[in-house]
Amino acid sequence: MTPVRTQAELFRATIVHTPVNPFSFETGDPQSLICFEDGGLLVRDGRIFRCDNYTTVQDAHPDAVTVDWRGGFILPGFIDAHVHFPQVRIIGAMGRTLLDWLDAVALPEEARMADTGYAAETARLFLRGLASHGTTTALVFGAHFADATAELFEAAHASGLRIVSGLVVSDRLLRPELHVTPERAHQDSRQLIERYHGRGRLRYAVTPRFAYSTSESMLEVCQQLMAEHSDVRLQTHINENLSEIAELRRLFPWASDYLAIYERYGLSGNRSVMAHNVHPTASELTRLASVGTAVAHCPCSNASLGSGVFPLKRHVDAGVTCALGTDVGGGMGFGMLKEGLHAYLMQRLAPDPIALDAPRLLYMATRAGAEALGMEADVGDFRPGKAADFVYVRPPEGSVLEGVVRRAEGVPQALASLFTLAGAESVREVRVEGDIVFSNGD
Ligand SMILES: [Zn+2]
Repeated sequence: MTPVRTQAELFRATIVHTPVNPFSFETGDPQSLICFEDGGLLVRDGRIFRCDNYTTVQDAHPDAVTVDWRGGFILPGFIDAHVHFPQVRIIGAMGRTLLDWLDAVALPEEARMADTGYAAETARLFLRGLASHGTTTALVFGAHFADATAELFEAAHASGLRIVSGLVVSDRLLRPELHVTPERAHQDSRQLIERYHGRGRLRYAVTPRFAYSTSESMLEVCQQLMAEHSDVRLQTHINENLSEIAELRRLFPWASDYLAIYERYGLSGNRSVMAHNVHPTASELTRLASVGTAVAHCPCSNASLGSGVFPLKRHVDAGVTCALGTDVGGGMGFGMLKEGLHAYLMQRLAPDPIALDAPRLLYMATRAGAEALGMEADVGDFRPGKAADFVYVRPPEGSVLEGVVRRAEGVPQALASLFTLAGAESVREVRVEGDIVFSNGD
């Protein structure tokens, strides 16, 4: 899509954002959500200049051109904190658990990324999937092949989205064609970092698939890459499934728990995001919080693969930042609103539940992802000076959602109805730094 540079545009719609962590308030506290029923978002040179009631902004900036989106909502662009690009075409496999699903469904498709043409086509489909659901930033597992991962970066650069990604490195227990030597992993990762990290909106994340598929030499390579490049990120998986955790005890007999494996190689810290953590110990939660490692919570995937119910309350109580991730293709699609809904549903059934409301879900789908990625100074909410990354959501005319939104008593209730009912058909336009990265053509 051709980027359009905007100058002093004033977007008029119902505007919501969560600049302050809503978990610091009681559920239902009006302070937990900043909202303007008839709001104005003033964007100049790709940055948020002001966010307030429409008439207030309009009176102060009469020169700005109004874009009238009344009847719709402007939300910060969604931030997907965990998703796999090579798995876009295998969404929806049912009835399996993690290790079985990897063998039978995920890894055969990941092996197909050896075909660079197939990988390039997959990358375009994947990015379209993100943008069309309102996701503007994502932390993405690349492929096990450097060329395929390069195709993702190239397509991401063209898409205008903020993509943090990296070559997935593994040297055991997957399929032989997905294994590389630690030396090769180091060389390929370093070349990709030099080529793509910091190019436009692209950033690099060192990506050991999980401790199960990485020898200690491979973890050392990851440690070395993190030391050589002080501003790249790290992503991996942790404590997803009980059989996986049992295997890890066998593979790393010296480790007191799963996190201890990553800690030995310096891979936990405030540059790291770890996906799942469905079965953490109390000590692991304390240690994650103390070093500022964020967790990507993927409720659709956890339910679909039968991994377990995420102990969100224990994470929140320990002070671990929890962002939402779709975990496509273990997850069920790219919709971050749907992911929020599933987080809500799972917590209703959790043995140790935490109450989730629309502000908390919005935070987990936006600002928490920015915090997890160290991007909170730039994206995640509508504070002045931040990048104008936002999604325009509008219920289709005549839809049930439109009826529910019109009947809603107050903005928080309308926002809850979006989490409940809005899918890609309600995403009308998506902007990153003011540039249109998706439009449904209305
Ligand atoms: Zn994953």
